[in-house]
Amino acid sequence: MIPHNRPLIKTADIEAVNEVLGSGYIAQGPRVEALECEFSALLGDGYACALSSGTAALAMALHGLGAGKGDRVTVPTYACSALLNAIYFIGAHPVIVDVKEDDFTIGTGNIETDFVIPVNIFGAQSNVFQLVNDGHIVIEDCAQSLGGKLSDTPAARIYSFYATKIITGGQGGLVWSTEDVIDSVKDYREFDRVEEYYPRFNLQMTDIQAAMISSQLTRLNDIRLKRQLLYSAYAGECSELFASGWNMQMGDITMPYRFVLVAPSNEDRDNMHKHMRSNGVATIVPIEQYELLHNYLGLPKNKFPVAEKLVATTISIPLYPDLKDYEIKTICEALRTFH
Ligand SMILES: *Cc1c(COP(=O)(O)O)cnc(C)c1O
Repeated sequence: MIPHNRPLIKTADIEAVNEVLGSGYIAQGPRVEALECEFSALLGDGYACALSSGTAALAMALHGLGAGKGDRVTVPTYACSALLNAIYFIGAHPVIVDVKEDDFTIGTGNIETDFVIPVNIFGAQSNVFQLVNDGHIVIEDCAQSLGGKLSDTPAARIYSFYATKIITGGQGGLVWSTEDVIDSVKDYREFDRVEEYYPRFNLQMTDIQAAMISSQLTRLNDIRLKRQLLYSAYAGECSELFASGWNMQMGDITMPYRFVLVAPSNEDRDNMHKHMRSNGVATIVPIEQYELLHNYLGLPKNKFPVAEKLVATTISIPLYPDLKDYEIKTICEALRTFH
């Protein structure tokens, strides 16, 4: 069975980790600092702070931008529980909204809160330009769009280096923002040997993780090319499906994180899953109904019709750089032969 995901670890990544292990310094140190510099360079104007996870990065971006107890933060329901965890971690309250049917990202009208976290879901760029123009404080969740096109400048961006993300250190996260915000996030992270005490938290990344992430970061262009190639190859195999009522996630996707098809019905989606499985290809429902944030919070389902429809009709096909040529052939043929 071709798995739905597989991390890509190259010899260079292993050597980078070995070098740290042999150096006698494995906690947060020079490698973490180097990774932060690499991200500032990659993202342009701004500063970066590496952390233990993408969730920590979300919480610290909010904290650094001054969000705290009682503040409200708008997030799309079609996302992951990490958003809720980060918002509750700093004592704020989530406001959940539905997403758009074409690209699965947050809509830009009718947002009533100062803070907004648009999620670039499966690599699709959110409309940060509009959100910033409307006067919101925007934290762009780029956990699934690292290496994609850079949007018009949000207040902060966050990244995740979890095992299934575009590049990985097993775990890890990073916030990018202005110097003031990053200073404040770093102060929160440096919990040990502080002169002035206030409650902080150990959210540090190790130099072992940072070395692995930096090593993978050097291949970002190759990763993008490979992902784009797979994405267009799969789309090309689906022309008959598209003529018979199927769709795919549309939108502004430079770094495809997933290839997600939208079936005409729930039954068609399940049939596709069985067909792919019988051809040796593992597929997943990329976000399940119970994972929708409004369902976690027990809000009425009829207020979120698009997301409820997406969880019933979407299916994700394996798309990652480690796929071998014969596996790609198998996937393409399976897509082509589904009727
Ligand atoms: C993975 C992910 C996160 C959380 O990152 P962790 O490193 O797993 O804590 C947040 N938002 C999105 C969109 C993600 O995909």
